[in-house]
Amino acid sequence: MKKYILFIFLSLTIFGSIQAQQTVYVSGDNLNFRTDTVISPQNVITILKKATPLLLLSKSSDWAKVEYNGKTGYVSVKYISSTKPVVTQKKNESQVYICLSKSSYAYHSYYCHGLKRCKSGVSKVSVSEAKRRGYKACGNCY
Ligand SMILES: [Zn+2]
Repeated sequence: MKKYILFIFLSLTIFGSIQAQQTVYVSGDNLNFRTDTVISPQNVITILKKATPLLLLSKSSDWAKVEYNGKTGYVSVKYISSTKPVVTQKKNESQVYICLSKSSYAYHSYYCHGLKRCKSGVSKVSVSEAKRRGYKACGNCY
């Protein structure tokens, strides 16, 4: 009987530890990953970006002990989630207009007279996308 109880105890312990080691995600925008549970700039290992997966090792009411990139540390439980948060596209990159004609080489911040001449259709893209496609800043717009 004793052995049986011990078996249940061990099973629960093992099961419990497997359960605790679940993947959680950073739900805040920038989360401090610390070596201990003291809030100080000295113990920050790195700053984790939103939706970064972490291996949850244990959890208290304030702190979660997690593994990230082979390192064990602590993050605030308030900024982790068991479901992966949706990362919205950063809005800080400005959108520009490009003319889709093969002879076009400039991107525009507004419908300047250069862009109005465009007959091949205008597309709104991010600045980096315009540059990737080989467009340069329009002299009238910038
Ligand atoms: Zn322009």
